[in-house]
Formats: sequence, structure tokens, C-alpha cells
Amino acid sequence: MKKSLHDRGVIARYGAFLPVSEATPVVSLNEGSTPLIHSPKLSERAGAEVYLKFEGLNPTGSFKDRGMTVALSKAVERGATTVICASTGNTSAAAAAYAARAGIRCAVILPAGKIAAGKLVQAFAYGARVVAIRGNFDDALRIVREFGGVEGVAIVNSINPDRIEGQKTASFEIIEELGEAPDLHILPVGNAGNITAYWKGYREFQAAGRSAKLPKMVGFQAEGAAPIFRGHPVDPHTVATAIRIGNPASWEGATTAIQESGGGIDIVTDHQILDAQQWLASHEGIFVEPASAASVAGLLKRLSPEATQADSLPRHKGAKIVLTVTGHGLKDPEAPVKHGGFVPIEADADLTAVRRVLDKS
Ligand SMILES: *Cc1c(COP(=O)(O)O)cnc(C)c1O
Repeated sequence: MKKSLHDRGVIARYGAFLPVSEATPVVSLNEGSTPLIHSPKLSERAGAEVYLKFEGLNPTGSFKDRGMTVALSKAVERGATTVICASTGNTSAAAAAYAARAGIRCAVILPAGKIAAGKLVQAFAYGARVVAIRGNFDDALRIVREFGGVEGVAIVNSINPDRIEGQKTASFEIIEELGEAPDLHILPVGNAGNITAYWKGYREFQAAGRSAKLPKMVGFQAEGAAPIFRGHPVDPHTVATAIRIGNPASWEGATTAIQESGGGIDIVTDHQILDAQQWLASHEGIFVEPASAASVAGLLKRLSPEATQADSLPRHKGAKIVLTVTGHGLKDPEAPVKHGGFVPIEADADLTAVRRVLDKS
């Protein structure tokens, strides 16, 4: 692979585990190497060590960058001049950024009116052609699939296996940081590419002798967009736009990860998601987008008194739980503002007035 001295991205770090060769031109923005942040407050509540893998600190603000560096590098290697994707927002932001970096065109197909403001502005800013269709994400993906045979066009949705390859590197980083895999890994599930990728990564590092154990994989879907939990496709509704998916592209991969690991799939309500988002920001200083907060909401759900025996968490001494928080809170400022009723308190422009207001709140 042709990598420059400046490249510190996931291909530079884990190229030996990725489908790249000397001939692959590396398209990177130094993605990955995101912090695994210990959460004292969640650890105390869980009776285990809880860590947050903060994927919102990738170059475009979500984990999608890990897959996109591999997808774009391979697309350029194969001679693509255009990449195309359907997106709930973050895939388009990442595709547009990496296409800009590679100097090729990017087209994104979005469900009209269903994309968070921060993500839409990214696609435009990075120079993508943006098409908003009157339909949902699943319609957008169907159209993109139909571009499959077109000369010079590469599809960079997670149905592209290069995306899954890149995304699995998050598991490698977690194992390197903790010295082994955690006991339990919780993450939000939309198209289910990420849970598929994490499981692949954990298994590959175990096979390479880097971790003696494997984690249980537990995915959380939004209650109104829970096809895997319910066992059939649905018409998806949730405030968490990144997981508003009715018919996941990687359904099978998710099922495999859950069954092989002895994990599970569960749901959280929009209310639980937005509460968890606000709790995490105000108690641990980590602001994530609503979809990302599904993993925190999921852990809190399992800690609640109503949780059944089957939901039990690893609680032996030193048990480790990792939650992936998939995207940055600034991606979608509208939802938390509405939920929290966030408005500044107005005051006259003098110290006494400001102090009076602060003392009251
Ligand atoms: C894409 C995305 C998800 C869902 O990941 P899947 O691989 O589709 O299951 C969750 N959160 C954020 C922020 C995302 O961008």
C-alpha cells in the first residue's frame, strides 16, 4: 500500500488485517485511534468497569470514517471516478469527505426531510451532489443498489464489504487498549454493519492470539425501528435518525454476531435515548448524537430494577463493558434542544442581574 509518512489512519495501523496491497492508494484522514474513555459513574452503577469508545471523534464525527478510508482506497484502486451511497446522514458525510480527499465525485441519495442538519451541511460542504428522494432510507438503498453495474461507479454503503473491513478496526483498538476483549460490548444497531464488523474484528484478533476471550455482543435498536428485535421489516420511526432503518442490510451478520457471542438484541424508547444522551453529556462530559446514546440507554435499561434475569450483566470483579458511542452530538443539535427545552435565561447586562439569575437556577 502506498502510504505516506503523514498517514496515521486505520490502514497505516492495521493494513495487515485489511484487503489492501502495495498497489492500493491510501485515502485517509487519520481516522480511528479514538479514545476509550472510562466512565466512573456508569461503572459505579453497573458494578463493572464501563468504557465508552467515543467514535464521534473521527474526522467527520462518526465511526463511518473507518470503513470509508478502506472503501475509497479500494474504489480508487479499481478505477472508480464516482462513489455513490444511500444515507441516513453519517455515511454521506464520510463518503463526501473521503471522495474530496481522493479527488473523485460523490453522489448521495437521502430520504427527504429525514436528515439531521449537521450531517446534511457536511455532505454539501465536502462537495457532494445531494439528491433527496421522496421515500425512506430503504428506498434510497434500493436505488443505490441499482447503480451496481454502472461503469466507474462504486457503491460505498455498508453492503460494500470494504466498509465492514475498515470498521472492524475499532475492536482491534479496544483489545490493544484493554489488553484483551471486554466481557460485554454494547452498541446501537441500524443497518447492522457495525455489529457485524466489531464481531469480525474481535474474532480476527482472537485468532491472531491477541485476546484470549470474546465479548458478548448486545445490540440496541430504537423501539420504533426494531426489525431485528421483532423478526420482520418495519416502517421505521425514531428520533435517532442514524438508526431509523426498517430492513437492515447486514441483518444476517447481526444475527451471527449475536448468536455466536451469546449476546442479544433489545430495544430502547426515544425517551430513554434522549434521557441517556443528556445524562451522558451532563454527567461525563461526553456529547453524542441520539443514535449513539442508544447504547447508554441500553445499559441503563439493563441496570433498572425491572430488568429480568436473562438480561443480567457481567458483574464479577474486574468485568469490563464497552459501549460504542457512534457519533458526535453536534451532528444533530435539534433533538436534544427540543427534548431538554434548552433556552438561555435572559438578563440585563450587569453583574447583579446575572448573579440574580444564576442564584435562582
Ligand atoms: C451508522 C450509524 C449507526 C448504525 O450503525 P449500523 O452499522 O448501521 O448498524 C449508529 N450510530 C451512528 C451515529 C451512525 O452513524
